[in-house]
Amino acid sequence: MYDFDLFTIGGGSGGVRASRMAAQYGARVAVAEERYLGGTCVNVGCIPKKLLVYASEFSDTFTDCAEFGWTLGERSFDWGTLIANKNDEIARLNCVYEKVLTDNGVRILRARATIADEAGPRDRPSQAANWRSPRTRLFFSRSFRRARSLWAAVI
Ligand SMILES: Cc1cc2nc3c(=O)[nH]c(=O)nc-3n(C[C@H](O)[C@H](O)[C@H](O)COP(=O)(O)OP(=O)(O)OC[C@H]3O[C@@H](n4cnc5c(N)ncnc54)[C@H](O)[C@@H]3O)c2cc1C
Repeated sequence: MYDFDLFTIGGGSGGVRASRMAAQYGARVAVAEERYLGGTCVNVGCIPKKLLVYASEFSDTFTDCAEFGWTLGERSFDWGTLIANKNDEIARLNCVYEKVLTDNGVRILRARATIADEAGPRDRPSQAANWRSPRTRLFFSRSFRRARSLWAAVI
């Protein structure tokens, strides 16, 4: 049912880049993302941080500009507008990441991926202690060796 050369867990900056590059080299790729495409950077890291910091800097600029000859009218700030526009930008980037993947033939699975062996899925670190066992295999992947050699070619 599932047969991929590379199965990526996590559609953040690293996972999306690796998946896209591998697909462009001709690999059959799937990526599992349990929350939101773009990961930390797009959704709760770099992007929202920069937008909120930029917004915070206008206050000093408005204060300083009088000394440079500018006269401003009454100022006001609307937190709701800032957050709504920040959320719109993140939603736009989520779509960009999705398009980058689908345009390159990467299959997106919107679910939590787990590593499994014959005993079943192992989702918690304590349960995953023996995952290096020879019997261990990547859940979904029947071509792990091929994926590893592909990785070596990509990075
Ligand atoms: C507040 C903040 C500000 C930052 N600002 C900057 C900046 O300005 N510049 C910069 O270069 N870096 C910045 N970073 C760092 C940057 O966000 C990270 O380096 C980057 O996101 C790491 O990418 P990643 O793909 O390794 O992991 P992530 O982006 O964290 O992606 C991991 C993804 O995997 C998914 N996932 C995890 N486990 C599973 C599973 N079992 N199944 C399915 N999906 C799973 C998660 O939902 C997540 O989407 C910032 C980070 C933070 C927190």
